[in-house]
Amino acid sequence: MKSNYLKIGCNTVELVEETLKLNNIEGKILYVAEPIVDGIYGSVVREQIQKVGILKTELVKHNTISYAMSIAERIIATDVSCIVGMGGGKVLDVCKYASYISKTPYLAIPTTVANDGIASPIAVLKRQDNKPKSLGCTMASMMLVDTNIILSSPEILIKAGVGDTISNYMALLDWEYAALSGKDEINGYAYLMSKSSIDALLKTQYQQICPDFIKVLINSLILSGIAMDFAGSSRPVSGSEHLFSHALDYYSTKKNLHGLQVALGTVSMLKLIGHDCDDVVDYLKKFEVDVNPRTLEIDEETFVYCMQNARQMRTNRYTYLNDADLSTERLKSIYKELVELL
Ligand SMILES: [Zn+2]
Repeated sequence: MKSNYLKIGCNTVELVEETLKLNNIEGKILYVAEPIVDGIYGSVVREQIQKVGILKTELVKHNTISYAMSIAERIIATDVSCIVGMGGGKVLDVCKYASYISKTPYLAIPTTVANDGIASPIAVLKRQDNKPKSLGCTMASMMLVDTNIILSSPEILIKAGVGDTISNYMALLDWEYAALSGKDEINGYAYLMSKSSIDALLKTQYQQICPDFIKVLINSLILSGIAMDFAGSSRPVSGSEHLFSHALDYYSTKKNLHGLQVALGTVSMLKLIGHDCDDVVDYLKKFEVDVNPRTLEIDEETFVYCMQNARQMRTNRYTYLNDADLSTERLKSIYKELVELL
């Protein structure tokens, strides 16, 4: 199943029928959505599906690996020909994995853009112990991104999307570092796409979150997803800052949005390696993306512990963390700088 159909713009949610027909979908179509999202936009999507095939509905309540597998089993056992998933990252990841396991075409309709998972070949689902696990899969074969729907989503989710794109900045530095150290190789095409994604965002003419800026952000997040697909891994968009965020997910009791955590990780890592972080910090402030550790309720002890244990989260990903000074004293001083700076 190749990913070959993408439309971004106003009211693209009205293109479900057209998209399914263009992709020769018929028969049973499984519509999967969060109950709240279904209550707002569901009727528009369900009516269109009924014009193309037989509507089956699944309202998602959780995002565990076993739940995604059970949906895949239902698809295989009942000969479902296509999944239409609508919602935020949790629903889309459940659908993405179920589509991958059952080898079924998948139309994704994101209602939020809090991270680059909207178009990536990776699904983050929960294990039985409730910890998140990243699973390799395939991108949605069809995608409709409605900018009106995204604009009406909570602003903090849009800011988290900005944060996840900002993380490409550090991820690319880590990738270059790993290549220079002889621990990895750069895929030039994937590198270029990730670089274009972050450049488009950093150089945008917009000064605040507005409809045109949302388009830039969506383009950047999708480019990040395609960069992962090209590289065959998350390497182009995920370096030490993501390892830090994974450590927070694992060890911290306070849960924050992924995009905010990786943006904090980016500034923390830039400080740790003595790299200029003015551009990144100015940008986050311009769009009022608050990643101050105090706001995120990450105390000094948790920050130090997660920075020191971040590289254990993925030992085969070589980053600046492998050789940096991770002494408690140094990290405590960085924490103080971050509290004042951000
Ligand atoms: Zn990310």
